[in-house]
Amino acid sequence: MPYRSSAPLPYEVRCQETVRDLGRWPSYHRCERKGVVEREGKLYCKQHDPVTAENAQKEKMAVWDANMEAQRITAHKLATWDMLLEALNKVYDTTHDPAIELIAADAIDKARETR
Ligand SMILES: [Zn+2]
Repeated sequence: MPYRSSAPLPYEVRCQETVRDLGRWPSYHRCERKGVVEREGKLYCKQHDPVTAENAQKEKMAVWDANMEAQRITAHKLATWDMLLEALNKVYDTTHDPAIELIAADAIDKARETR
């Protein structure tokens, strides 16, 4: 248990959560913070409020989902890279429009820079 400068609060006003001690062996004690929110008849401190914990978990899952989606999109772009480059080369080779030829040439040069 962490160093405490005063006597612990009475059990009746303390958070209901059980927390792990800091020692080497697994042991647990009741959270010593004051209960500030009541959920289904039990008091919880701000950190152990089940609603806050649930929201934090949802937020973590949303970040994880966003990262997975970004990875999926990146993988999709990489998977289509060669096909797009080949199509662009065809456009460059067959177009008779100098403006399109210039745009295609710039894009092809840029695409090859990263390879
Ligand atoms: Zn607590």
